[in-house]
Amino acid sequence: MNELPTQLFINGEFRKPAKGKSMPLVNPATEETIVEVAAATGEDVNSAIEGAHRAYRQGWRDLTPGERTEILFNIARLLRENCERIAQLECQNVGKPISDARDEAGLGARVFEYYAGAITKFTGQTIPVSRGGFDFTLRQPMGVVAAIVPWNFPFPIACWKVAPALAAGNSVVLKPASQSPLTALLLGQIAHQAGLPPGVLQVLPGSGQEIGDVLVTHPLVRKISFTGSTAIGSRIMELASRGLKRISLELGGKSPNIVFADSDLDRAATLSPMSVFANTGQDCCARSRVFVERSAFDRFVEVFTAATQQLRVENPTGETCQIGPLVSAGQRNVVEEFVSSARDLGRKIVTGGDRLFDKGYYLKPTVILQVEPNDRVWREEIFGPVVCIRPFDDEAAMIEEVNDSPYGLSGSLWTNDLRRALRVARRVESGVLSINSHSSLHVEAPFGGFKQSGLGRDLGMSAMEGYTELKNVYVAE
Ligand code: NAP
Repeated sequence: MNELPTQLFINGEFRKPAKGKSMPLVNPATEETIVEVAAATGEDVNSAIEGAHRAYRQGWRDLTPGERTEILFNIARLLRENCERIAQLECQNVGKPISDARDEAGLGARVFEYYAGAITKFTGQTIPVSRGGFDFTLRQPMGVVAAIVPWNFPFPIACWKVAPALAAGNSVVLKPASQSPLTALLLGQIAHQAGLPPGVLQVLPGSGQEIGDVLVTHPLVRKISFTGSTAIGSRIMELASRGLKRISLELGGKSPNIVFADSDLDRAATLSPMSVFANTGQDCCARSRVFVERSAFDRFVEVFTAATQQLRVENPTGETCQIGPLVSAGQRNVVEEFVSSARDLGRKIVTGGDRLFDKGYYLKPTVILQVEPNDRVWREEIFGPVVCIRPFDDEAAMIEEVNDSPYGLSGSLWTNDLRRALRVARRVESGVLSINSHSSLHVEAPFGGFKQSGLGRDLGMSAMEGYTELKNVYVAE
């Protein structure tokens, strides 16, 4: 494998941090240290933001849309050429099954292709104002965007923040999670090789606790685009409010999977395990609360459990692996505590709940029944391979229960009754919902949450709008 990117990426080159700090990266499948990666401190943050501001002012914002399009397409092409390298890095760094890592590398490239094409189709309006004359709107870049991303989908989330921000003419300071900086650093290097001017994309690995506040409060940062926990998101919102900075927040979830007896039940029960166990359950969209109409409950649980037991939990480097380890020992402990809390209450663990293998942070996919609405496992985001299934009798009461959550990110709904599908879809409080499907994400469509699951939208043209200010211009006749 090529040399690993381990330094900060500032102004088009890899650089040592000002204070010479570093942090070890551990492979969650082997528990071995992969490499030490540089950790930025406040000094590095300031210099990266100033560099990004210069790059924005001294050229990037003034390129024609056609020129930006060409650079973004070049980035996409180089990302495609490097897909295997990106996938191998991600697999080692966060324990992602190699086949998923390849899909996510391809997804990152597709995001750049989408926004490269979008630049020349992103238009303002002409408005027939009552005074006569001529009135039109412009979408203008903001300046420096701080993008802060988590470790569960490190590469695609970095791409779906960086690409629309650059497409709209901003420069970006990208902070990957401490656990997963490798593909973000590679993205910085590849973007530079593709012709992105130095400073337009800076990549700063480092501890969020140490550099987060400097990044969020720096006066030259105009927008913060954050994906991560609701707790940190709310802290960022508070700090950003002091400078009236623009923010978008993609936060936690506790998404429902609603199954009606009139659905294609075996299909729903066979596909549903991957709607919660994919990425070892470390997915903000994980459908971890399953609501099944009572008459279909036993059959659903039987098929769902059998499908869960067939999932291949293996070393993520293997081509057949479907579920890898959790990202860290700490994350596995958190998940195990949730399972213990259910055990202590006498809830029924139908399958899973135990560790697997001597090395690596593996945990068997776990199915829990007989939970009550106030149980922690039913209410709180677990971020691991644990699902709870409950029966329901009445559609309206079920919807009340679905919406009785501080979160509102995603969800699935299985039924063959179109009127019911539309009625329930309208009432579920979530930013994303799929009917007769377990997927949530389309590059072309807005993605984000209601309530404490977030603010603003990633992906689609909505994301590009979120990286611009709207200006109105009036020309007197
Ligand atoms: P997290 O602890 O909130 O961390 C996310 C990012 O924020 C990391 O880069 C982290 O850096 C940084 N950070 C930590 N403290 C900070 C601070 N004080 N100021 C600024 N940045 C700070 O979340 P996580 O545990 O990595 O990720 C899991 C969470 O993300 C889950 O709740 C999940 O639902 C959510 N998520 C949401 C979406 C969505 O689209 N809605 C997608 C994926 C994940 P360090 O790593 O250095 O701490």
